[in-house]
Parts: sequence; structure tokens; C-alpha cells
Amino acid sequence: MAQTYPDQIWHNGRIKPWAEATVHVMAHALHYGSSVFEGIRSYDTPNGAVIFRLTEHNKRLFNSAKIYDIQIPYTLDEINAACRAVIKANGLSKAYLRPVAYRGLGGFGLSAETPTDVAVAAWQMGPYLGAGVLEQGIDACVSSWQRFAPNTIPAGAKAGGNYLSGQLVAREARRLGFGEGIALASTGLLSEGAGENLFLVFDGALHTTPVSAALLNGITRNTLITLARANGIEVVERDIPREYLYLCDELFMCGTAAEITPIRSVDGKPVGAGKPGPVTQRMQELFFGLFSGKTKDQWGWLEPV
Ligand code: PMP
Repeated sequence: MAQTYPDQIWHNGRIKPWAEATVHVMAHALHYGSSVFEGIRSYDTPNGAVIFRLTEHNKRLFNSAKIYDIQIPYTLDEINAACRAVIKANGLSKAYLRPVAYRGLGGFGLSAETPTDVAVAAWQMGPYLGAGVLEQGIDACVSSWQRFAPNTIPAGAKAGGNYLSGQLVAREARRLGFGEGIALASTGLLSEGAGENLFLVFDGALHTTPVSAALLNGITRNTLITLARANGIEVVERDIPREYLYLCDELFMCGTAAEITPIRSVDGKPVGAGKPGPVTQRMQELFFGLFSGKTKDQWGWLEPV
């Protein structure tokens, strides 16, 4: 199916036609992966369209840039405003937003001080892992590729180059007929999905892997930990060996794109009853309730467009 694109994009300080937001073939980021980015969703609510945890996401964008000494020539408020502007310019409400800051054209050495170019795109996106997955769940596999070791590439930065790892994991899973791949860390312990954090359920409690397990400290992960604790569901952050994927009562992935995607089997073994379980469904209810108004937003997460 041919991809269709939105009309307008924000690029280097202004809204312009999508087709004009181009990059030079010798831009630093294209060769060396030197970009940092975010994935953010906006939702319709009874009180109008909101961008979910916009400020938190863009703070992480600046933190990712800090790790790599990428100077973003805008303030946090300006990037937040760009996100709002690009949604409005395209007449969107429920959308996926992609701010990206990248080393542009201006030097070919690894440590070159190039200008930083910045763009924010927004488009309509359904469930990341396919239609119906939020209800039915996916079949996942453990990847033959490991995540990078903590003293190699920092998993805590959401940088373009990190997604070479994610592409290996995701593409291998699709090639083998699975919905998504799960990676182990260099320690051999569980890390995360190609682009999602993991939650396992044991006896009604949520168990999730710690930031030391080569993962991105997900904002959805943090949201679910907060929602669970506020609703009397215990949350444990701990190292988890691979075999517990097969032994847990329920399993799901979470992320901005994947939202809360249940996993019904891993490596061909059914997880629990082999279908989305009650704790997973409760977390979906609490999460999506933020946008329907059923879950009270006590945290100021819903930022108006
Ligand atoms: N891990 C990776 C590798 C990701 O790319 C993402 C998506 N940004 C996540 C986890 C989930 O993070 P978040 O909930 O902040 O989208």
C-alpha cells in the first residue's frame, strides 16, 4: 500500500510543506546515526485533543541530546509549541508525533561540530503492531540478537543509532512470523522489546525489567507503574531471567506506539491462558481511561493541543 503523507511539517523553526523538509545526503546523522528523537501520541478527550505527557517526552529529547552533546537550538517550550503547531497545521487530533534533532551538513569527522537541524512531524497512526492487537495480543519470540552492553551505546538515550539494534530484533521476529521480538541484555537477562518495555504478571503483581537492563526508560512504563500503584496493584522492578517469560500468568509490551499490547505466546509457548489476562486488561482500562475521562488525570499528563 502506498504511504500517504501529511501536508505540513515543522522544520528548523517554521511550518512548511512536507516535500520541502529535506536533508542533504552528506548530513552527519545519515552516516553515523547522530540523531535523537521522540515518539509522542495525541488523543481525543471529552475536553478536546491532548498531547500525552508532551513535556516529559521533550525533556527526554533534551536529555538524549545532552548525552551526545547535540545542541538543540530551541528551548523546551519552543519544541512543545512546534508539536502543537504541527498537529494544528495538519488538522489532526489523534496523532503520532515525531520530534527529531540531528547533526546536519557541516563536517564529516565523527566529532565534527555540525549545525543541529530539528523537525517535528505528525501523522495519523493506528495500533503499531497491527489491527486488533490491543484486543487479541501478539505472538512474540526471544531474539537471537542481544541488546548493546551498557558501556557501549547508552540505552537511556533515544538516539537514531540505537535503532539498528531494534531493527535487527524486529525484522528477525517478522521474518520468523512473530508479531514482535524481545531482546536479552548482554547479561543474558531480559531487556525489552524492539521498541517497547515489558511487563510480566505474577500473582496479580506487575514485574518489569530495570533501567540497568539496557532499555529505554519508557514514559508509558512510568505511566503504568504510577497508575498501577495508585490503584493498589503492586509493581516490582527487578532482573528477570528469560524463562520467566514462559512461566508468568500474563505478559504485555508497552510504549507510545504499541500502547499496551498483550503477548499471548513467547517462542510458541502460551503465556498463561494464551489470551490477554485480567491484569493486562485492567491496565488497558486505566490507561485508555485517561482519554475517555474514566481515569482521573491526577498528574497533569494530558497537555492540551
Ligand atoms: N523501548 C524502546 C527501545 C523504545 O523505542 C520505546 C518507544 N519510544 C520504548 C521502550 C517505550 O518508550 P515510551 O513509552 O516512552 O514510548
